[in-house]
Amino acid sequence: MNDRGNDKYLLTPGPLTTSLATKQAMLRDWGSRDSEFIAITRRIRERLLAIAGVEDSHAAVPVQGSGTFGIEATLGTLIAPGQRTLVLTNGAYGKRIVSILERIGRKVSALDWREDEQVDPVALETALRNDFAIDYVVVVHCETTSGILNDMAAIGRITKAHERRLIIDGMSAFGAIPIDVGRVPFDALIASSNKCLEGVPGMAFALIRKQLLELAEGNAHSLSLDLYEQWRGLEANGQWRFTPPTHVLAAFDQALKEHQAEGGVAARHRRYCANRDILVAGMRELGFETLLADAVQAPIIVTFLMPTHRRFDFARFYDELSERGFVIYPGKLTVVASFRIGCIGALGATEMQAALAAVKATLTAMDIDTLAPPAAT
Ligand SMILES: *Cc1c(COP(=O)(O)O)cnc(C)c1O
Repeated sequence: MNDRGNDKYLLTPGPLTTSLATKQAMLRDWGSRDSEFIAITRRIRERLLAIAGVEDSHAAVPVQGSGTFGIEATLGTLIAPGQRTLVLTNGAYGKRIVSILERIGRKVSALDWREDEQVDPVALETALRNDFAIDYVVVVHCETTSGILNDMAAIGRITKAHERRLIIDGMSAFGAIPIDVGRVPFDALIASSNKCLEGVPGMAFALIRKQLLELAEGNAHSLSLDLYEQWRGLEANGQWRFTPPTHVLAAFDQALKEHQAEGGVAARHRRYCANRDILVAGMRELGFETLLADAVQAPIIVTFLMPTHRRFDFARFYDELSERGFVIYPGKLTVVASFRIGCIGALGATEMQAALAAVKATLTAMDIDTLAPPAAT
């Protein structure tokens, strides 16, 4: 995977390190109404459905913009004014979903957990049993705030048993963490080009149950974020309604080919798990502590507690790692000081080992041998 050119490695949850071929796929110009570009769009939409195993039941609807644009478009298109939504939140992305629903004037309530705790399916069960007016349940698959994995099988089973609709923010999970629509019967799953599918940023998409999409005409609060109209347009002539990010699509097409060639979701999951395990073991050896228990830690991004060592200076740590070629991510937690290191992107064991060596060298430069507290005497 040593084809990054002179770029730094992005140990971040997107944009992330992409392969050279994915970057090179952008070195052409396409007419957005040209048959070649229409074929790219079609291939991508089919591939996304195949990755989820929902070719018959769902439609893949892309939309311009970052992941949040996809979330806002999907919620606004599917949830009719007057319908009610319960959001399960254990981090900033869950809270953002609540904000979107409030902003677009949909009725919303939330069940909240701490950022280091999984969403509790038992509480969902109780809420749905007691409140028949809830139409939709929305949850984040992997909460990128902390890197915690939510129990999608349990949430899917309960939502289905109570005959409600399920929308998943699968942004930082889709393509690398398996999701089986048989066990997690989602009505919509939203993700973007620039996370586990290793494309460049600029496009989001939703996999939406066709029966539901057919009923969604006129719901959307926004002209440009109306996925019903976007879908109708794509089905009619294969074209996007408004200027598509052509180069992003060309890169995404290449990234999806690489995803398939690697062995799909199972292979990508294995590689990211190996990246995470190397990272966590190496960082612990240097005395860093993870926020999460291993059992709930997704192979996407790891939150480390800010060391309390008096010579540890995070701004310097960040800058020196960057100079050594590795970009990490500041924390997003509200509860404790932390920073994050991603395990996703076109990176493997060699790059994770090199990142650890850079961390060690940076600590040495700060005159720190180990961050571990002295053993009790
Ligand atoms: C990245 C991400 C998003 C979208 O963020 P954008 O900055 O708009 O791309 C949404 N939800 C989760 C869980 C994410 O990881």
